[in-house]
Amino acid sequence: MKPIPYGTQHITDEDIAAVTEALKSPLLTQGPKLAEFERAFADYVGARYAVAVSNGTAALHLSALAAGLGPGDRAITTPITFAASANCIRYCGAEAVFADIDPQTYLLDANRVETLLQQAEPGTYKALIPVDLAGYPVDAERFRRLADRYGLRIIEDACHAPGAWFTDSSGKRQRTGNGAYADMTVFSFHPVKHIACGEGGMVTTDSEELYEKLLLYRTHGITKNPEQLERHPGGWYYEMQELGYNYRLTEFQAALGLSQLKRADAGLARRQEIARVYDEGLKDCPGLTLPSRAKDIYHAFHLYVIQCDNRKGLYDHLHASGIFAQVHYIPVHLQPYYRSFGWKPGDLPVAEGYYERCLSLPMYPTLTDEEQRYVIDRVKAFYR
Ligand SMILES: *Cc1c(COP(=O)(O)O)cnc(C)c1O
Repeated sequence: MKPIPYGTQHITDEDIAAVTEALKSPLLTQGPKLAEFERAFADYVGARYAVAVSNGTAALHLSALAAGLGPGDRAITTPITFAASANCIRYCGAEAVFADIDPQTYLLDANRVETLLQQAEPGTYKALIPVDLAGYPVDAERFRRLADRYGLRIIEDACHAPGAWFTDSSGKRQRTGNGAYADMTVFSFHPVKHIACGEGGMVTTDSEELYEKLLLYRTHGITKNPEQLERHPGGWYYEMQELGYNYRLTEFQAALGLSQLKRADAGLARRQEIARVYDEGLKDCPGLTLPSRAKDIYHAFHLYVIQCDNRKGLYDHLHASGIFAQVHYIPVHLQPYYRSFGWKPGDLPVAEGYYERCLSLPMYPTLTDEEQRYVIDRVKAFYR
């Protein structure tokens, strides 16, 4: 059996043809494919606007800037995420504050967030960055209520969850990134995520004001839009109005993203099926707790994360069998960089307990039935 990773991209001949065509076109960057990809992605999630950028981390950075984060401000995120969810706060010179996770969903616990907000001077916190961990969509409506009460922006990190939805209190299905509750939602097109561009990212929003800011920050803070210019001496003229970045996505990456987007729903359906087979195959295995999920959500299953006894033993056993299970995540507040701000073991006990026992089993649309049977078999063998 060939090595089985925890996740990988799926590139088809159609994808390759789309990239080849883009490479033959006159514009390799800032051309028509970008706009086409942004429009298609905005429609896919149900948002008014989408801004494509060079990666998910850049998408988080631009969102944090657009949310107005700066020195002296604070923003709250979860410790169980990829470091970039917190780093974007630091890029703006603001303070990253971690709140503990919910013991059932492992997502940022809104009750903990509320306690932090209640205890702080008004105006201290500027943004909330909840993360749809593993593809489990956060209750964005609940965070919206907090954000409105305390005057914060919501940046939802949906890098794991394109296509997921939760059901709001009116019974309506709300797709992640549709702009109904979060101010901005961030996606990644890293190869291990649902839609691969090599590198790539997207921010979606329903706010025209935030959209304009994101566009400006993406391209050096430079605008040529006559409506935004202070002067207009001639056709050559542009203004750099803010300190922005070059976070653009190339045309061939956009072409790949567009081609991949066509298969996004099929990929999600396959991930659901794989999850069901794990649920069934491992349900009686001692030593494991399988991922729970509410009935009224659609989980995007970027990851299938189990909680297990003797995690190191199982990790080593699976790796020795060619199964590259992975740990998502080492709590971000315990990284040396964040410890230097005073964070320490014991600060966030639910997250730290989760980390001790978590392991992500292989989950990607091209995982074969035979490979999955092998994974289940090896896990069971370990606990026998
Ligand atoms: C992948 C990921 C990112 C960063 O995306 P890149 O495209 O790799 O920069 C941010 N947050 C989460 C939760 C991720 O999984």
